[in-house]
Amino acid sequence: MDFKNLIAHCKEYGFIFQSSEIYDGLSAVYDYGPYGVELKNNIKQYWWKSMVQMHENIVGIDAAIFMHPKTWKASGHVDAFNDPLVDNKDSKKRYRADQLIEGYAEKIEAKNQKDIEKAREKFGDSFNEAHFRVTNDRVIERQKQVDAVLGRLAEAMKEGDMDALGAMIAEYEIACPESGSRNWTEVRQFNLMFNTQLGNIAGEEGKLYLRPETAQGIFVNFLNVQKSTRQKVPFGIAQIGKAFRNEIVARQFIFRMREFEQMEMQFFVRPGTEMEWYTYWKETRLKWHKALGTSEAKLRFHDHANLAHYANAAVDIEFEFPFGFRELEGIHSRTDFDLSQHQNLSGKKLQYFDPELNENYIPYVVETSIGCDRMFLAMISNALREENVPDAEGQDSVRTVMKLHPALAPVKAAVLPLLKNKEELTNAATAVYDRLKISVNCQYDEKDAIGRRYRRQDAIGTPYCITIDFETLENDTVTIRERDSLEQRRIAIADIPRVVEEGVKMENLLLS
Ligand code: ATP
Repeated sequence: MDFKNLIAHCKEYGFIFQSSEIYDGLSAVYDYGPYGVELKNNIKQYWWKSMVQMHENIVGIDAAIFMHPKTWKASGHVDAFNDPLVDNKDSKKRYRADQLIEGYAEKIEAKNQKDIEKAREKFGDSFNEAHFRVTNDRVIERQKQVDAVLGRLAEAMKEGDMDALGAMIAEYEIACPESGSRNWTEVRQFNLMFNTQLGNIAGEEGKLYLRPETAQGIFVNFLNVQKSTRQKVPFGIAQIGKAFRNEIVARQFIFRMREFEQMEMQFFVRPGTEMEWYTYWKETRLKWHKALGTSEAKLRFHDHANLAHYANAAVDIEFEFPFGFRELEGIHSRTDFDLSQHQNLSGKKLQYFDPELNENYIPYVVETSIGCDRMFLAMISNALREENVPDAEGQDSVRTVMKLHPALAPVKAAVLPLLKNKEELTNAATAVYDRLKISVNCQYDEKDAIGRRYRRQDAIGTPYCITIDFETLENDTVTIRERDSLEQRRIAIADIPRVVEEGVKMENLLLS
């Protein structure tokens, strides 16, 4: 399903609404609706169970959003959490300079793609793309240009050289995508942290930041957690919580938001063992994604070519969103950078005594960091599709179905009396619903023809529909319909909870 329709579907079916929509919305801020909140909670539960509950050496915390302002000085966010900002003087639109330059490189690459597609059509099955890329003069020339542009961009970003970015925009004659104007301001650094002011302290001293990542709440609590839980290195601390970034350009729905939620885990290890753990967490996190049934072709690793100064290895798990492969999760080997910085600035020792080595050290950290909202978008775009299926009369019809893993589905079962004005049927259905709601999130629905009710449940990804009909009144059996196979079978009322609970339980994910 294309991206526009996906966004419309999320609104129509109560998954995601634009924030403050009646006031024309607040850009890059979204509200989760009744089905959205269920799906999001299930994603968080899957992450928490697999990271905390399934690892005896990982514990959770829930730190406050506000932290002492020195935290952000120590972490480097005050000085370096910037994006290069450029304004177009004519259209008054703001852009990220690096994204404008990337867009320029993408346009050149798109021309190559066009030539490749043309050649593919011409040569048919015998076409060899790799060979074509290294032998076609025009394609080679353009590839050189792309490499040169991206090379210069990476260098300028590494050096924080805003003038170099401005020079590239001028030299490549990059125009404002909205207006076509090339009338740009200088490129300047823009800090992405939101700030606010404490009521009782005036001036800089009272300036507070809304955390741009959850990780720092874990670092500053490192010793509190280690001592109170008597964990031994290697061990991890996990947290789910809100983060805020004043993104300059926030498009692509919930992919890039100004207020979002992160699920982060910092794993503290003995210095020198970090690469083993980095490999372990890369594999473990990919397995977590694959267990959901996400096709392997939609997931890939992307190693960071330019490492942050404190990292000695970093990789993204990318997912193929409707607008291409993009970062879904980051796995970073962060050395002892954060703990050392906090130790220096706070003057408090953040060391661990290793009884095996009989030695004190600041542990190294391997972190896994995933955006809950990006995971939500990945799951919806992977699951939502249109399918041709036979209708009640056996004719071809189209259904919109959300094939979410049953453990993530917002509603696990719908209980449907065949007719709404037959009291025997609605009473029996209500009894089934009242029992089932104790263990799973389910719905009672008596409105419209049964086929339409099935379609409504398909559109929100409900794995089971249970229909109460006249046969139910004779022999206490119901029809249970499965979302994906469309198979319908009769089971005893007494068996419904067991069948549904088995089919949707989180253990199915944790054990796979
Ligand atoms: P990007 O390069 O896309 O801005 P990042 O490298 O800055 O992301 P990290 O700082 O590594 O991201 O944050 C970890 C995770 O948090 C990301 O993998 C992503 O899933 C999520 N995330 C980061 N920024 C946003 C945002 N603005 N909206 C939603 N999720 C986000």
